[in-house]
Amino acid sequence: MIIIVGAGAHGLSLAYHLKKKGIKDVLIIEMKRVGYGSSSRNASRYRYHFYSEENIDYALKAIPYLISQSKELFLNSVTYKTGYLWILRSEEQISIFKKLDSLWKSKNIGGRFINCKEFDYLSVEGVCYYAPQDGAFHHDYILYSYYISVKDSYKIVFDKVSEIVIGSGKVKGIKTESGKFFESEKVVLTTGAWSGELLQKINIQPYIEPERKEIFITEPIKYFIKPLIIDKDIYFSQTLKGEIIGGTETKTERGFLPFTISIKEMSKFLQGLKQLVKNVSGLGILRGWSGYYEMTPDNSHIMGYGEEWPEDLYIDAGYSGHGMMFAPYSGKLMADLIADNKKDPAFSIFTPDRFAKNKLLKENLVI
Ligand SMILES: Cc1cc2nc3c(=O)[nH]c(=O)nc-3n(C[C@H](O)[C@H](O)[C@H](O)COP(=O)(O)OP(=O)(O)OC[C@H]3O[C@@H](n4cnc5c(N)ncnc54)[C@H](O)[C@@H]3O)c2cc1C
Repeated sequence: MIIIVGAGAHGLSLAYHLKKKGIKDVLIIEMKRVGYGSSSRNASRYRYHFYSEENIDYALKAIPYLISQSKELFLNSVTYKTGYLWILRSEEQISIFKKLDSLWKSKNIGGRFINCKEFDYLSVEGVCYYAPQDGAFHHDYILYSYYISVKDSYKIVFDKVSEIVIGSGKVKGIKTESGKFFESEKVVLTTGAWSGELLQKINIQPYIEPERKEIFITEPIKYFIKPLIIDKDIYFSQTLKGEIIGGTETKTERGFLPFTISIKEMSKFLQGLKQLVKNVSGLGILRGWSGYYEMTPDNSHIMGYGEEWPEDLYIDAGYSGHGMMFAPYSGKLMADLIADNKKDPAFSIFTPDRFAKNKLLKENLVI
C-alpha cells in the first residue's frame, strides 16, 4: 500500500498518475478537506521566467505538461497565454533583468524591454520587461479533475497524520490524530507548508516554513488587463470575467498565522492598483483570502527523498509561490519514481539533501 498524506494538487496529481499506471493500493489521508491548503488559495498563473536555470529548465517541461493536461482532464483548466509584465523600478533591477534576458533568450523564452507606456492603461512610465510566453489557468479545475478521477478508486480518509512510523530504518505506516494506525510500504508527504511538522518528529530537518500571503479580487469591470503585472509591493491581473485579482508583497513573520485578511493589506492592494492603473478609483473588493507560500532556503521545491532518510519515505513539497503550475508534472515524475523506480534527473537537482550540503539553487524571483 502507498499512503499519500495531503489532498492538495500535488497529492492528487500523484494519485492520478499512479492510477494511470494501474496501481491499485493507494490511500490518501487529508486532515481537513480536499484543497484545504494553497491549492485552492492561489492566483492560478504559470510562468517559464524563473531566476535559476534549474527552475527554468523544470518549467520548460512542466508548463507544456500543464497545458496538455487541459485536454486530458475531466474539467478543462482553461490555460491561456497572458504574459507577465515586470515594472522595473531601479537601475539595479534593470541590470538583473538584462542578465536574466540573456539567460531566457538562450532558452528561447526571451521577452522584451519596453516603455511601460505601451500598456496605455498604466499610469507608470519607465522600463518594463514583458514576457509574452507566460499565462493563466484555473487551479480548481485541475485539483477537482484529479480528485474526481481518483475518488472511486482510492480511499480518502479525513484525519490528521500525527506520526510517520519507522522501524529498522524503513517506513512501516502512519498514525493519525484519532488514534488509527495504517500500515504501508511507502509514505509520500504532499503536505505543502505543513510538511515540516511531520519531518521534525522523525528528526529530519524540515527546511520548509509557511509564509502567509493575502490575496484579493475586485468586482468585475470590462476586461483590459491581460498580463500579470508585477511591481515591488503588489502583483495583479484580470480574470476573463473582469475581476482584478492580485496580492500584496509584505514582509511577514513565518509561521501558521490564521487564514485571515487585514484592512491594511486590502488598502495597500487598492491603493497600489489606483496608483498604477488609470480609471479604477472606487473599485470595490469582492472578496479576499490568505494562504501559505511554502518557503525553503532557496525558494525552490524538494522532491524525492534524502540519502539518510528512512527507506520508502518520499516528499514533494516546498514550492514557495509557484507550486500549482508544477503540480501536474511533479505528480507524474513522483509516480514514475514510486511505481517504477524511474529517477528523473530533477530528483538530484531538487533533492532535500542540497541544504545540508550547502548546494542551494539561486531562485530570487519569488512572486
Ligand atoms: C496567495 C497565493 C498565491 C499563489 N499563486 C500561485 C500561482 O499563481 N501559481 C502557482 O503555480 N502557484 C501559486 N501559489 C502556490 C501554490 O498554490 C502552491 O505551491 C501549491 O498549491 C502547493 O500544493 P500542495 O499540494 O503541495 O500543497 P497544499 O495545497 O497546501 O496541500 C497540502 C495538503 O496537505 C494537508 N495536510 C497537511 N498536513 C497534514 C497532515 N498532517 N495530515 C493530513 N493532511 C495534511 C493539508 O490540509 C492540505 O490539504 C500561490 C500560493 C498562495 C498562497
